Amino acid sequence: MRQVDLVVVGGGPSGISTALHVHAAAPGLSLLVLEKERYPREKICAGGIGARAFRILDKLGVTIECPMVKLDAIALRLGGETIVTHQKDLGVVVRRVEFDHALANQAIARGIEVRDGCAVETIAVGDDGVQVTTAGGEQIRARAIVGADGIGGIVRRQTGFPRGELRAQAVELDTEGVTQDLPRDTIVFDFDARDLNGYTWDFPTLVGGAPMICRGAYVIRNLGPDDARARIATYLTARGLDPKRYRHKQFAERGFEPGAEISIPRVLLVGEAAGIDIATGEGIGQAIEYGAIAGPYLARAFAADRLRFSDWQSTVHGHHLGRQLRIRHAAYRWLFGPRRATVERVLPQLPALFRVAVQDFAGVPMSKLALLRGAGQFLAAVSREKMRD
Ligand SMILES: Cc1cc2nc3c(=O)[nH]c(=O)nc-3n(C[C@H](O)[C@H](O)[C@H](O)COP(=O)(O)OP(=O)(O)OC[C@H]3O[C@@H](n4cnc5c(N)ncnc54)[C@H](O)[C@@H]3O)c2cc1C
Repeated sequence: MRQVDLVVVGGGPSGISTALHVHAAAPGLSLLVLEKERYPREKICAGGIGARAFRILDKLGVTIECPMVKLDAIALRLGGETIVTHQKDLGVVVRRVEFDHALANQAIARGIEVRDGCAVETIAVGDDGVQVTTAGGEQIRARAIVGADGIGGIVRRQTGFPRGELRAQAVELDTEGVTQDLPRDTIVFDFDARDLNGYTWDFPTLVGGAPMICRGAYVIRNLGPDDARARIATYLTARGLDPKRYRHKQFAERGFEPGAEISIPRVLLVGEAAGIDIATGEGIGQAIEYGAIAGPYLARAFAADRLRFSDWQSTVHGHHLGRQLRIRHAAYRWLFGPRRATVERVLPQLPALFRVAVQDFAGVPMSKLALLRGAGQFLAAVSREKMRD
């Protein structure tokens, strides 16, 4: 039986980032990444990534070589208005089939064993280790495992975590551009449909080198019944596009729940297996950041032979990622809740807070002046609302 220190289940951004960061923090640990699919493998995703994720990878000297559309602005459509916030080098849009392959190749180039086409089938956690069996019948024994296997992951299912509550559905497709589209350096989040429990989006993308627009509808299931397919059909029709002409791709997302356990002894969850931003469905940057926290955390845990991971949740919460996910979790009910009319009046009055959020996405230091201005704008908007009441 093969024996290693750590098995990472899943070779998406959270699994590969975890492996890269463990390798950097504790090069002596034996490490194995098991990925069910063969690279290049598809992942249904719009591929928008804030520059924060690349700054994290840069610190390890990891550079991703794959086609990208460069972004310098985010637009928000709300209540008939379009609010555009510019930020140089904001981020990029990638195709996941290319990005994830390039990221995995970076791990392989550093000598990390990444085995693709190797699905994990059973996991048995004992007091002294974890036994993993692959679909090919191979048995591997590890001192601990990381569940980086996405929304429907086997690690969560087989090791006793609850299913979790927060879910979204997203439907996406790639179309040609239309006259209503904004410049190709801008990603658009469209909240104009008031009764939609989510939003629609337009992201510039490159399909086989050809400039296209990835459009989609994101629907938070917990907020009530909604139909992402019907939503995107309405959205396309309003832009003169025939929904029947495009291949629809649909996939679910798991939201981060502040109180939910994300570890048990010898098992730690990262990325979408743990939970990502429910307000927008953004998860790639978060997946990479989970890995950046898990790397040094696991290195310390192995060095001390303390593999109960009882402080993994508080470690994540104490990091930028945990703060960001908690803020966005708090924001989602407000954004999509019954006080929608108030939201539509208040948000356009908060350009400084948009700037701060955009700086966060880009991973640049947040401007203290913008934060102060944002707080001032927020208080002024709230008092104007009180006067209306
Ligand atoms: C339609 C849609 C659009 C999205 N758009 C964006 C966007 O624009 N920007 C953004 O930031 N996020 C977006 N997301 C979210 C983003 O795709 C995910 O949050 C992100 O991929 C999470 O990364 P991960 O590594 O945790 O999981 P994943 O990327 O899901 O990777 C998990 C990996 O585990 C593997 N695996 C699963 N089971 C096993 C097993 N038994 N054995 C071995 N391997 C296994 C899978 O094959 C997969 O490769 C979108 C999601 C959807 C559905």
